[in-house]
Amino acid sequence: MALLPTVKQLLAMEPEGQDVTVRGWVRTKRETKQSVFIEINDGSCLSNIQAVVDALLVKEEAVKNTLLRVSTGASVEVHGALVPSPAKGQKAEVSVRTIELIGEAPADRYPLQKKAHSLEFLRELAHLRVRTNTFGAVARVRNAMAFAIHRFFQERGFYYVHTPIITTSDAEGAGAMFQVTTLDLEALAKSGGPVEYDKDFFGKKAYLTVSGQLNVETYCQALSRVYTFGPTFRAENSNTTRHLAEFWMIEPEVAFAGLADNIALATEFIQFLVSTALTDCAEDIAFFDQRIQPGLRESLEKVAQTPFTHMTYTDAIRELETSHAEFEFKPYWGCDLQSEHEKFITEKVVRGPVVVTDYPKEIKAFYMKQNSDGKTVAAMDVLVPRFGEIIGGSEREWRLELLEKRIEELGLAKEAYGWYLDLRRFGSTPHSGFGLGFERLLMFVTGMSNIRDVIPYPRAARQAEF
Ligand code: ATP
Ligand code: MN
Repeated sequence: MALLPTVKQLLAMEPEGQDVTVRGWVRTKRETKQSVFIEINDGSCLSNIQAVVDALLVKEEAVKNTLLRVSTGASVEVHGALVPSPAKGQKAEVSVRTIELIGEAPADRYPLQKKAHSLEFLRELAHLRVRTNTFGAVARVRNAMAFAIHRFFQERGFYYVHTPIITTSDAEGAGAMFQVTTLDLEALAKSGGPVEYDKDFFGKKAYLTVSGQLNVETYCQALSRVYTFGPTFRAENSNTTRHLAEFWMIEPEVAFAGLADNIALATEFIQFLVSTALTDCAEDIAFFDQRIQPGLRESLEKVAQTPFTHMTYTDAIRELETSHAEFEFKPYWGCDLQSEHEKFITEKVVRGPVVVTDYPKEIKAFYMKQNSDGKTVAAMDVLVPRFGEIIGGSEREWRLELLEKRIEELGLAKEAYGWYLDLRRFGSTPHSGFGLGFERLLMFVTGMSNIRDVIPYPRAARQAEF
């Protein structure tokens, strides 16, 4: 089947009266004495195409009957001529010869009438909300960013690796895990007996992964430059605007790379994605700038061009302590940076993205490379205005003895890390990587303030509808 041009493609054509077909959903219908104007959207871009049914045609009985049932949300197919539009803001419109109603959307029942609906209201309509300007734009930017992520890495010699979703290692350390089981929980509760994990599907406790990092490190130690891009799961019990229970993460890992290389890669990556959004999604970004987050475009342009500020954790704490700002959690050296602290540093101190490095080892994962001060690790988080952490990464501890010692200190089950320690036993190399939360990136690029609005079907505590 030859695909017809989309509305986006039609709007890019020179209107010369050529025959065209438009299929899509009606956004609005407006009637004047002379004509009926129908705005049709097919999701290919933010813009609608205007279909004009002139007076002569409107008078035809069949057309009149069809038009009666053409209402907001209905799907239609129109044929006509692509002609220059006298209306301002659009180059072309369709002068209609025939119009067919494909699927009705009765006005008394269709929930998305032509008025502004709140994002909260639309969250209850996750199956229909993508038909609005906002969610259509989010979906297109999400697509563009996913594609750009692959492009960025592929152009730089990285290999895309699929890490497993199910894992039996319960101490990846990044967050609370969801258990995966085929045991009959109800029968078990009735019997009151002990849980026999050897009878479970995998013969032991299994979980959904919280990160692909440990697995992708093995591929890094053979293919040198690798990345994962897939779903991850965390049983986050806090209800925040920046945490989901199911989210997508991008995790590059580079052999023979140190912390400075890692910071450079993360910075180049974010700037590449922001520039791509500005050029490839210009219409949608303009919409977000106007309707969602005033000043968005200018701030993204600045991010794309300005080197990121670097700051050690110790300096960040000093900034917070000497700021005299009121914090819910009082900052002190050794504390985990709270979102309010991260926001303060990016919004008030730096006024842009900032890379914070060298965190206390106690608040970071076991696998991070220990610094020679004995207190900190070669970690780097990238923080951005509005919500704080967007990237978490580090140079990895590649020295067997130090890694084993850390695992013991933390009381982790060493046997579970046998394969991970093998990487340090055989041909170990320095290496570094980071995790970028895909939905956090989308919040950053679109200006949307709730993470539930940048993923089609958000999963969070007590929320798994649709
Ligand atoms: P936070 O402190 O914000 O909870 P984290 O320290 O748990 O983040 P990491 O374990 O470093 O995060 O994960 C890497 C990245 O994954 C984060 O920088 C963030 O962009 C993203 N991320 C982490 N948890 C979530 C979540 N629950 N929902 C969406 N994105 C997340
Ligand atoms: Mn977390």
